[in-house]
Formats: sequence, structure tokens, C-alpha cells
Amino acid sequence: MAILPIVWYPEPVLKKKASEIERVNKEIRDLIDNMAQTMYNAPGVGLAAPQVGKSLRLIVLDPTGEEAKEFMALVNPEIISGEGEQVGEEGCLSVPGIRADVRRFAKVRVKGYDPIKEKEVEIEAEGLLARIFQHEIDHLDGKIFLDRLGRVKRELLKRRYLKHLKQNKKGGR
Ligand SMILES: [Zn+2]
Repeated sequence: MAILPIVWYPEPVLKKKASEIERVNKEIRDLIDNMAQTMYNAPGVGLAAPQVGKSLRLIVLDPTGEEAKEFMALVNPEIISGEGEQVGEEGCLSVPGIRADVRRFAKVRVKGYDPIKEKEVEIEAEGLLARIFQHEIDHLDGKIFLDRLGRVKRELLKRRYLKHLKQNKKGGR
């Protein structure tokens, strides 16, 4: 297993629609293991393949953020329905240093292929888990959490982030 470098917004891979995975082979299984390790190491509660530079429809998550506690991986995940709403603070490993309140569905139904159970699954999620699914699946469609904000707030935070990024880049990375 390996910790993968996390790409930062505005890398193009974070802005494009990721491709469906046709077969869960060794390469995908290794990617899942590495993404899991990368997420726990960050630490984070979710990670989408585009965040490690792979434009594939794959997410890993664990709402506890504690190694292997409630780990889940989902291939070709899709939100099939959502209801209610919740507003809560989000950050993103690909947008370091920025947090914002984001409005999301309170409950979602998600389907996809579970590579651990080796079958198609449907999951009902609410609260934090529902939020993580929506945040990570947005990454597969080339969206980051700031894209879910109103225009004024979004532009302000993106400007602040890009300025912050420029200053940090001077110091390396
Ligand atoms: Zn994110």
C-alpha cells in the first residue's frame, strides 16, 4: 500500500467528468487500498479517485475517520434520490485551507458496486454519511464543494483560496 499525492484545485482532473469503471481488476483493487491509506493518513472522511489524479468513478469513505472502522468503497456510485436538506461545514483535501457551509440533501439513496461485498448495493444514508456521499460523488462530476455555494460567496472563497495557494507554492510543493 502507498500514500498517494493528493491533487489540489484547480488541477484539470478535478474539473472533468470521471469515467465509469468497467471491471474491478487488480489495478482498481490496489487503487482502492492506496486511496484508503491516503484518506486515513490525510486525515479525511472521504476521497474520490480524481483527487489522486485518476479520472475514474470510484470513492472511498469512512465517516468516523478512524482506520478501517466504517470503511466503504463504491465503484460507479450514483445518487438515485435525495430528500430534505441539511446545512453543514465542509472542507476538502483538494482545497486546503478553505471551509464553508454547504447545503445538501438530508437523506440520499446511493447505488453502486461494492468491491468488498463484490455486488451491486443500494445504501440509504443520512446526516454526515449523506453529506460525504454527495461531496465525493460531486468530485466524479468535476465539481468541488465551492461550486455548491451562491455566486458571491463562491467567487470570494475561490479568490481567497487561489491567493493562499500562490503564497504557499513559493514555499515549495
Ligand atoms: Zn473533496
